[in-house]
Amino acid sequence: MTGPLLPVATPRRAGRVVWTELRARPWAGAAAALSAVAASAAGLVAPAVLGRLVDAVDAGAASVWPYVWALVAAALATAVLTGLSAVLVARLGETVLARLREAVVDRALHLPSATLDRVRGGDLLSRVGDDVAKVAEAVTSALPQVASAGLTVLLTLVGLGALDWRLALAGAVALPLYVLALRWYLPRSAPRYAAERVAMGERSQALVSSLQGADTVHAYADEERHRAVVDDRSGQALRITLGVFRLFTDFGWRMNRAEYVGLAAVLAVGFVLVRSGDVSVGAVTTAALLFHRLFGPLGLLLFTFDDVQSAGASLVRMVGVADLDVPPAPVPASSRPSVQLQGVGHSYAGGPPVLRDVDLVLAPGERVALVGASGAGKTTLAGVLAGALEPTAGRVLLDGAEVDLRAHVGLVSQEVHVFAGTLADDVRLARPSATDAEVAVALETVGADWAPALGLGALVGEGGVELTAPQAQQLALARLVLADPPVAVLDEATAEAGSAGARDLEEAALAATADRTTLVVAHRLTQAARADRVVVLAGGRVVEQGTHAELVAAGGRYAQLWSAWTARA
Ligand code: ADP
Ligand code: MG
Repeated sequence: MTGPLLPVATPRRAGRVVWTELRARPWAGAAAALSAVAASAAGLVAPAVLGRLVDAVDAGAASVWPYVWALVAAALATAVLTGLSAVLVARLGETVLARLREAVVDRALHLPSATLDRVRGGDLLSRVGDDVAKVAEAVTSALPQVASAGLTVLLTLVGLGALDWRLALAGAVALPLYVLALRWYLPRSAPRYAAERVAMGERSQALVSSLQGADTVHAYADEERHRAVVDDRSGQALRITLGVFRLFTDFGWRMNRAEYVGLAAVLAVGFVLVRSGDVSVGAVTTAALLFHRLFGPLGLLLFTFDDVQSAGASLVRMVGVADLDVPPAPVPASSRPSVQLQGVGHSYAGGPPVLRDVDLVLAPGERVALVGASGAGKTTLAGVLAGALEPTAGRVLLDGAEVDLRAHVGLVSQEVHVFAGTLADDVRLARPSATDAEVAVALETVGADWAPALGLGALVGEGGVELTAPQAQQLALARLVLADPPVAVLDEATAEAGSAGARDLEEAALAATADRTTLVVAHRLTQAARADRVVVLAGGRVVEQGTHAELVAAGGRYAQLWSAWTARA
């Protein structure tokens, strides 16, 4: 629960990612921008027409109908254009977001399991969940509104200036108050939003870890403590959210003050100007209406600063994940590649190194047995070679190239799992497109003679037929055959020496790895004796290697292991 969090991108980097996406869609971008400008411009017509109407009535005009029609036309045009721009902007935003979301999920799915183990589970969850939802919400609702409000404010200010500079200046006295309001608000809100996101992540984390470990929690009757943790995290999130809301209402009255002062100034200056005969009543009417028209979009801009800010906080968290190192693209390895481990070292999360400077080459199609005492690092080495563990030093190459090991190396681990379902589906896990016939062949290859009697449709695993340990191993080997990777890594279960089951499994392992470059962690040394080469691991280092015969003759550590083994068997 205390691991590090995933990286967060800088706002600049996030902006560049979004900009790159936008640039890839120039037409959609131009259409969205144009429609938004047109919609905002159409909105200026009404105040201008109303101002003229006031002057016309003042001058004793015969009919107001032309003005009325102009107003109706302007309103219709504004409505249509606003709708259109909202659709275009949201569609563009959604497209960009969808691409980003795909990148985030893609990275999340390709994160090395070692990284996943290290980071807090809830962090990743809240990034692909809460954060994506937050940005999506901003893109569909806030983004079109913010775009249109920003343009409206800009165009309105231009219109006000064109009307009379003194009226524009009067309106401008509100600006410092707006700025003050925003400057009061921003430094207070940004950290609170960040804290809110973190608190929500921690709440998810507390929930997830308690739920995932529910069995363990029950087993140790530890429900109360876990409930207390969830309670505590929820309370924390609640307190922060309430604080954000309080901040928000304070901000509201500061904005109202700015509006009040600005409108009062426009009316007062207008009054003076009309009196001195400098401008018409209609012009002042237009100015006041224009200024009043700013309230909506300005308020929206300032209030959605909120959503924009918290969406921004989510966006940089998403980009942070999307920017994680892309796993090397799988390059096609030959059907029997060579494998090179160069200076490979590994330590588990801050612990001492359990592998040190391992250099090892497996020739194409070679079968190498890895032996050593318990705790020597065999399973760790198998995990590194299979791409399940990221080495903390050195690298693993296939045919001299750095590739996505998981795409080329099949791993049969020490503990095999029988998933609940039919026997066929359990094997098919390795290649979902495989036909029943292919599944049957794979089972036959590993000598699972019990399978036809049981039937491919038989339910196995929890709630079905309980398979014996050797049968489960055969199942795992059949999966390997079906997946057909060019490189195989077998971390054998420690089976009873000399038992019939063990001998069958040995044959099954040989059959399953025939024609693959193979590393076998061998607990039964008869396995090692049949391999092309034997590598002895002790204390995380390779201490001996050679053929079985060579090593026995050399009288070293392997020779000792062998004589102990033959004496026992
Ligand atoms: P072997 O398979 O040869 O018995 P392992 O590779 O399983 O050896 O373990 C090598 C060392 O690494 C041991 O000291 C073990 O305690 C340690 N180790 C193995 N797995 C982990 C893990 N997940 N976290 C921390 N230490 C581990
Ligand atoms: Mg092991």
